[in-house]
Amino acid sequence: MSPKPKQTMFRCAYCGTTFDRAMTTAMPFCSERCRQIDLGNWLDESYGLPYEGEGTLDRAPQDPDTEDPDGVQ
Ligand SMILES: [Zn+2]
Repeated sequence: MSPKPKQTMFRCAYCGTTFDRAMTTAMPFCSERCRQIDLGNWLDESYGLPYEGEGTLDRAPQDPDTEDPDGVQ
């Protein structure tokens, strides 16, 4: 019987590295760096609007072509 050192191993939520909880203050990440990167990704996703700006402002709210009097009964 060998005494097992008590370890609290976690897996980094960002890079997947296994780390000791005592080694970091950036739970649940292995390092502050991973935490920052993951946080940055989150912000990127929420701010990263795929397609907005050019073209959208050009379009009038009511396009005369869309409203076709002949098509409506
Ligand atoms: Zn990590």
